[in-house]
Amino acid sequence: MATTFIDKARISVKAGNGGNGSVSFHREKYVAAGGPDGGDGGAGGHIILQVDDNLSTLMDFRYKRKYVADNGADGQGKRKSGRDGKSLIIRVPRGTLVRDLETNEIIQDMSGDEPFILCRGGKGGWGNAHFATPTRQAPRFAKSGLPGEGFEVVLELKLLADVGLVGFPNVGKSTLLSVVSRANPKIANYHFTTLYPNLGVVYVDSGASFVMADIPGIIEGASEGAGLGHEFLRHIDRCRLLVHVVDVSGSEGRDPVADFDAINQELAQYSPELAKRPQIVAANKTDVMEDDSLLNALRAHVEALGWPLYTISAAAHQGTRELVFAVANRLQELPPVAVYSPEFVKRPPKVDMSQPLEITVEDGVYLVEGPWLQRLMANTNFSDYESRNWFDKMLRESGLFDRLEAMGIKDGDLVSLYNLEFEYQH
Ligand code: GDP
Ligand code: MG
Repeated sequence: MATTFIDKARISVKAGNGGNGSVSFHREKYVAAGGPDGGDGGAGGHIILQVDDNLSTLMDFRYKRKYVADNGADGQGKRKSGRDGKSLIIRVPRGTLVRDLETNEIIQDMSGDEPFILCRGGKGGWGNAHFATPTRQAPRFAKSGLPGEGFEVVLELKLLADVGLVGFPNVGKSTLLSVVSRANPKIANYHFTTLYPNLGVVYVDSGASFVMADIPGIIEGASEGAGLGHEFLRHIDRCRLLVHVVDVSGSEGRDPVADFDAINQELAQYSPELAKRPQIVAANKTDVMEDDSLLNALRAHVEALGWPLYTISAAAHQGTRELVFAVANRLQELPPVAVYSPEFVKRPPKVDMSQPLEITVEDGVYLVEGPWLQRLMANTNFSDYESRNWFDKMLRESGLFDRLEAMGIKDGDLVSLYNLEFEYQH
């Protein structure tokens, strides 16, 4: 089958750049020398992630891979600030993990309802009105906006199902899900019907509900060359309980005990963690069972392992209510689904300082500009002590301070770096 399940997507995201500040002077008839009135640039828009429960796959990201938020507008005269760039909201299915492409670290687990700012927009540059002081009445400079953050990230979907349906292909998993939930998975009498893990919400009479995921059959070994199984297994990583469906009818010549063990072995190979998850066994297709010898053998085998077994016929809706109640009751005793915690640490960007900074002196202010400085500042969190230190170190290493000294800077002179201004201290 040509279709593959998209549960991973790589996208590039870029917040908007800040707009530039404006250099402008107030002009009015009969007013000789107007003051500076250049407005600030607007801030760039953020890239924001938000969970949307109407989405259940990462399919959309296959067609659109670049996401760019709007830039802030430049400031204008008459102290008019530039408009802020609009943030771009990217909707993702619940349970989407966002990873840094380079390190594979988790940036965020999109399981909750809180929006998450993935990339911050660049701050707008100050207009010259901002720089006017009693001693500096006509500043002829303004600042450029800072660039927005940009990333390459990998989205990875792990479904937040409480219950995962496991079992060989064709044993009746999809049928069971469609019967007990509102999902409407494709059912057909051939293997691998389910190409997408179908999620279903199962409503229990008591008002409780749980999410069940129909996971396509795990393929034993590498036979049949169908390595899909493990890809799919990813989706049940967080299940609290497995419903293990076994065909006990013998209609396909299968041995239920051997099937049951084979699936468990596959599980253990994929994830020892998952193999330890509690199970409830659903012995299915009892409506076409010739005799109950296979069922009895399975029951003895399963109960010896400590798992409960329920006999059902998914197709005939027999025993399914009892199964659902048993699942709901068991879930009440089990701990909630794990949530992944972020492990990503924003690193200082690598800056190539070979390009010298541009230093100009205007009205006694040392204006410092240059592409790498701009990039560095956009990525420095000035409210964080360590970041600030690192920023300082980079400036020192770049030779900026030596150059300023050579130009004759004195203690107390103003140095202006984009949206940062400080008095020089030797
Ligand atoms: P899955 O591959 O495990 O998802 O299996 P499906 O739900 O697609 O079912 C495979 C086939 O078995 C379909 O033809 C179903 O109609 C049939 N089937 C499922 N449950 C039962 C059952 O309880 N009794 C009988 N006789 N057939 C069933
Ligand atoms: Mg199926």
